Amino acid sequence: MPGFTPEEDAVILALVRCGVPFTRIAKEVGHGAGACWARSRRLRGLSVEPEGEGVLVNPRRCHDCGKPTADYRCAKCRALWRKKHHVQPSAVEEDGI
Ligand SMILES: [Zn+2]
Repeated sequence: MPGFTPEEDAVILALVRCGVPFTRIAKEVGHGAGACWARSRRLRGLSVEPEGEGVLVNPRRCHDCGKPTADYRCAKCRALWRKKHHVQPSAVEEDGI
């Protein structure tokens, strides 16, 4: 994966702030949408990627909001998902997969 130039960083940040979808940002800067997403997280100080060795970081992110989580969705989004799909809180824990 090629790195991002400062110009590309600026473009990503500007577009993210405007609410431009990552699929379009990816086309603008010529990187993958996932890479642009990860880059924007890092640029905004939201990244949970380990920066060095020995850093224990949960690599999973909420499917819906992108918050670091131990599950497929964070507790808040899981509650929303259950509500939306009329699943009782007592139902099976492994939802959404
Ligand atoms: Zn969430």
